[in-house]
Amino acid sequence: MDNSLITVTSPLLPDLDEFYGLLKEIWNSKYITNNGSFHKQLEKELASYLKVPYVSLFTNGTLPLITALQALRVTGEVITTPYSFVATTHALWWNGIKPVFVDVDLKTGNLDPNKIETAITPKTTAIMPVHVYGKPCETKKIQEIADRYGLKVIYDAAHAFGVEVDGESVLNAGDMSTLSFHATKVYNTIEGGAMVMHDEKTKQRIDYLKNFGFAGETTVVGPGINSKMDEVRAAYGILNLRQVDEAIAARREVAVAYRNALRSVEGVSFFDDMPGVKHNYSYFPIFIDERKYGMTRDELYMKMRESKVLGRRYFYPLISEFSTYRGLESADPKNLPNAHKMANSVICLPMHHALRREDIECVLEQIVK
Ligand SMILES: *Cc1c(COP(=O)(O)O)cnc(C)c1O
Repeated sequence: MDNSLITVTSPLLPDLDEFYGLLKEIWNSKYITNNGSFHKQLEKELASYLKVPYVSLFTNGTLPLITALQALRVTGEVITTPYSFVATTHALWWNGIKPVFVDVDLKTGNLDPNKIETAITPKTTAIMPVHVYGKPCETKKIQEIADRYGLKVIYDAAHAFGVEVDGESVLNAGDMSTLSFHATKVYNTIEGGAMVMHDEKTKQRIDYLKNFGFAGETTVVGPGINSKMDEVRAAYGILNLRQVDEAIAARREVAVAYRNALRSVEGVSFFDDMPGVKHNYSYFPIFIDERKYGMTRDELYMKMRESKVLGRRYFYPLISEFSTYRGLESADPKNLPNAHKMANSVICLPMHHALRREDIECVLEQIVK
């Protein structure tokens, strides 16, 4: 790769010698997948690091979403956000569930709880919000609505690794939360993911479901799938967990530098830290008001690219604009004005642990006039 490119993200990589040491252990044991010792160890370490009761590892961050819907027997319609990565809605589609898009709150980019109730029909069985950019949803309000109507809540927490509200993990909200450990995320196992659940019985059932439904050698308890993580990636994950705090601290420094420089730029807005929240600085989205800034979002995006600063327009287009979902009633842009506003003005700036001071300056040079 061209080293002069400033990419939006860069994977956190374990030390090669340490990784080789663990690989040797795996080779010696000849036990390379199916709930091996590194797999068990990483599940324990993650539960403790994330301050959650149970974690079940998965091979990516999409399959726990699909499996959570299966496990909770969610059917009919599910209320969700169009302002996310497309996997959120795909997980519903793969379960034969009709997505019902509800608009987001401009203050956070998350599903607006005040707009959920009017979208509930007799067919609604669950709500699937996303903690977009790792900013916590209004979990209490969402739970109140879910309790009132008897709905399940599954959080796509792919961006929310390690995020806490008043000292408690945001992953404890709802019936289940899912994580992605893809290379582009704050914490990665190359490809990988996890589900977070509250009790041992659910953990047991999920562990069966991700291994074809096998509960022992000859018993299959349900129509499971194969979404197991192997020992090699579990070992990689154990090493990365040891350096993730440092990586998040480095990301925080980048966010502080961006905010200091951008606060006075007219037509550019961004999110500040939320009170009481431990953030993970997974993304740094800025929003361009073209009349005030004097340039459209796409003009700035292209100008940055030409100077080898690779921002990303997360999340543009909205999920509700993709051909699979465009025909849904709830996908009508008139139903989703805030989501459209954000999608049409966002650029996520380069944000990762390895950005150097000169990289940050180079990014800011493109934006600050
Ligand atoms: C990355 C991501 C996923 C999917 O995760 P994979 O590990 O790539 O399958 C799902 N939802 C959101 C919001 C994501 O950002």
